[in-house]
Amino acid sequence: MNAKDLPPTASPVAKRPVMPICGDDYPLSDKQRHLMALARQLGAERFAPRAAQLDREAQFPFENYEDMRQAGLLGLCVPESHGGLGADYATYALVSAEIGRYCGATALTFNMHVCTTLWSGLLSEDLEMSAEQRALHRAHRAVHFARVVKEGAVYAQPFSEGGAAAAGAMPFGTTAVKVPGGWRVNGKKIFASLSDAADYFGVLCTEKKADADLSRRDTLYLAIPRSAPGLSVEGEWDPLGMRATVSRNLVFKDVFVPDDAALMPQGLYFQAASRWPHMFMTLSPTYMGIAQAAYDFTVAYLRGEIAGTGPVKRRQFATKQVAVAEMFIKLEQTRNLFLRAIEDARVDPAKSTRLRAYAAQFTIMENAQDLARLAIRTCGGQSMLKSLPLERLYRDARCGSLMLPWTAELCMDRIGREALYEAGEKDE
Ligand SMILES: Cc1cc2nc3c(=O)[nH]c(=O)nc-3n(C[C@H](O)[C@H](O)[C@H](O)COP(=O)(O)OP(=O)(O)OC[C@H]3O[C@@H](n4cnc5c(N)ncnc54)[C@H](O)[C@@H]3O)c2cc1C
Repeated sequence: MNAKDLPPTASPVAKRPVMPICGDDYPLSDKQRHLMALARQLGAERFAPRAAQLDREAQFPFENYEDMRQAGLLGLCVPESHGGLGADYATYALVSAEIGRYCGATALTFNMHVCTTLWSGLLSEDLEMSAEQRALHRAHRAVHFARVVKEGAVYAQPFSEGGAAAAGAMPFGTTAVKVPGGWRVNGKKIFASLSDAADYFGVLCTEKKADADLSRRDTLYLAIPRSAPGLSVEGEWDPLGMRATVSRNLVFKDVFVPDDAALMPQGLYFQAASRWPHMFMTLSPTYMGIAQAAYDFTVAYLRGEIAGTGPVKRRQFATKQVAVAEMFIKLEQTRNLFLRAIEDARVDPAKSTRLRAYAAQFTIMENAQDLARLAIRTCGGQSMLKSLPLERLYRDARCGSLMLPWTAELCMDRIGREALYEAGEKDE
């Protein structure tokens, strides 16, 4: 499918044209408009009809990925010079939010894949490297970009280990030792989204140096192929929400990867984490999409447009109008912080920009849950039926605030600390 000349997207629930996630008055480039329309069309026509069954069976959305592969979206943030679509951070966020309106699990896993290319591409260009390091990095990432663009490869992004490492407080316990021609990796990751689907796992791990303690400064980012000897995928997957992400555990036992497995040079992830904070906000577009979907459903339901719930209209009741107004206000607060924060994303942001990013992540994740709750309260009993998307949106929305490293708790923690202490300040 081509992004050009797309017709307006019909809503999967109501036969009215769907507004872009940013509203119809937000300035977009032609590229953004086309890519968002493409995402909406795939979402409405392909992803939404498949979502209920995938959720029920906790199955990965392979067909959605095939659709995205055909449409070129797997290369969304691969630079045009490498055959990709060359989207920047804000464009990624807008496209991802459009997908999130139709299938949360597809959007959340798309985040893991696309951000692998974003981190090693556009974001790494902003960071300091020696000329030699940069040349080597560009040669390595060209290998990964070619896999995505030419072979349609999918990358996962497992960093969680069930300890303080994914929160950024400790070095990753998964380690890599330098060996001739590459690295030998040992350890375990939990919650690896795309565990049934990824061709490569972009694993955050710590370089284990002889006679030295593990250090966060020595974090490595290595792409391990699914087929690598010593890699196994383990565990049950039967969660409350985001069931189609299929996020099982990974175990690495003496897994060898060659030098060009590096998605970032040694030490660069540590630099990125402190200088490019918005790299950790990329899960929030999924939940912006879910928040919008909960609102859209409510409006369609109250207008009597949802098939199977009777032709009865409920919009004439003053209580329903007040409830929709409350939802709209919350949605607009969320959307505006989202749009501002994705425009803000850059290297070395000002303190206000950094704090706004935490506030945006917190707001989107918490408000998505609240909007799903309000949607069910407003629409009523029939809206909870599993034949309709709202109860899935409600369950999927619960997961956003739990996602490390910027859980809702950690956003509060950082805002409180950074608001009260300037850099380097300590109490006696
Ligand atoms: C559907 C789904 C998909 C996921 N996909 C991925 C994936 O693809 N890749 C990946 O790496 N992870 C993924 N995760 C994992 C996710 O990012 C979290 O790592 C995971 O949910 C944390 O589990 P936990 O709450 O049991 O963490 P725990 O191990 O209990 O620890 C973290 C908890 O402690 C709190 N905390 C930690 N440090 C501090 C502190 N200094 N101050 C205050 N509070 C603190 C955090 O807020 C958090 O609640 C996924 C999770 C879900 C639910």
